[in-house]
Amino acid sequence: MSRIRNIIRADEMGFCLGVRRAVGTLEDAVSVEDSEVYTLGPIIHNPRVVSDFASRGVRTISKPEEAPADSRVIIRAHGVPLQIKEVLESRGCRVMDGTCPKVIASQKTVKKYSSLGYHTVIVGDADHGEIKGLAGYAENPIVISSAAEAEALELDGPVMVISQTTIKQDEYDEVCAVLKKKCPDLKIVESICSATSKRQEALVDLCGRVDACLIIGGRDSANTQRLYLTARETGIPCWHIQDAREIPSEITRYETIGLSAGASTPDAVILEVEDRLRSM
Ligand code: SF4
Repeated sequence: MSRIRNIIRADEMGFCLGVRRAVGTLEDAVSVEDSEVYTLGPIIHNPRVVSDFASRGVRTISKPEEAPADSRVIIRAHGVPLQIKEVLESRGCRVMDGTCPKVIASQKTVKKYSSLGYHTVIVGDADHGEIKGLAGYAENPIVISSAAEAEALELDGPVMVISQTTIKQDEYDEVCAVLKKKCPDLKIVESICSATSKRQEALVDLCGRVDACLIIGGRDSANTQRLYLTARETGIPCWHIQDAREIPSEITRYETIGLSAGASTPDAVILEVEDRLRSM
C-alpha cells in the first residue's frame, strides 16, 4: 500500500527564461506556416517536446548544410558558432535566433577578450552545444572540465576564463583557484546562470524537507543531471526520471515526496508526474 501523503515542489524548477524563449521562437516559426521549419540540433534536451514539434512537421538537422534554401532554421538556446549562422544565411535560410540572452552575453565576452589578445579557457563539457558555440567566438580556445585539467595546462600571457552557464559554482571556483596560481594576468568571467544556482539551492532546501525526491528531465539535459547529483549528495533517496512512466515503484515507501525539474522540462510533464504520484 502506498505511503505517499505529500508532494512538494521545489521553489524554483522547470523551464528557465532561455528555454521558454527558444521554445517560443519555434512556436512562432511553426505558426507562420510559410515554409519548412528546422532546428539545428534538438530545440531543447527533452524528448517529449522534440517529438511534439516533430509531429507538427519540425525537423531536426545536425548540420547547416542540411537546411534547404527558404526554410526557417531555429537556433536553440545554447547558441551556435558565428560561422554556422553565416553558412545558413549564405544558403538563403531564414535564421530565427533562439539563443538565450545570457549565452549571447558570454559569446560577446569571449569575442571581446579574444580580440584583445587573451587566451580563452572555457570550463565545461566540450561536447555541449553551448561550449561548441562559445568556442567558435575565440582564437584557439582551450576547453577543460576540472581543476585537474587546469593543473595540466601550460599557459603564458593574458588569459580569460569563462564557464558553461550551467556548471556548479564550486567546481568553477576550484578551476579558477588553480589558474590564479598559474597565470599572473588572469581575467575571471562569472557567467554561471542564476537560474541554475537558484534551482540547486531550492533543491537542497527541498531535500531537507522530504523523504525522497524525483528529478524530472531529459536524460541528455546537463542541468537536470546536475540537479540529480545535488539531490544525491544530500543523502536522501532520489531518482532521475524523464516522465511519469519512469516513476519507480519504490517511491510508494515514502510519505513526503519532493519534485524538481531541469530547465528544459515542460510544465505538462511535471504536472503528469504529480498527478501520477497522487494516484499511486
Ligand atoms: S539556464 Fe540560464 S543561460 Fe541557460 S538557457 Fe536557461 S536562462 Fe539561459
